[in-house]
Amino acid sequence: MLTCKEFDAFMVDYLEGGLPVWQKFMCWLHVKMCRECAYFIRQYRRIIVLGQQAFDSPDSAVPDSVPEELVKAALAHRKSN
Ligand SMILES: [Zn+2]
Repeated sequence: MLTCKEFDAFMVDYLEGGLPVWQKFMCWLHVKMCRECAYFIRQYRRIIVLGQQAFDSPDSAVPDSVPEELVKAALAHRKSN
């Protein structure tokens, strides 16, 4: 199984669907087994959606609480490795 560090290196490609099948499977497996990485991915996806919404309507503000959550998740993720 991948370590969190290895998963971290693949994560962006994994989320963008750019990985070969085997690596994709290994990442998928890691997310199933690792709560921290699963949480991190959920936050990451939320940010992407919010970013797209902000792009759709540039006048609407992105909620302040979300980037802070991502920072916390990122910090917790780094600490656990
Ligand atoms: Zn992990």
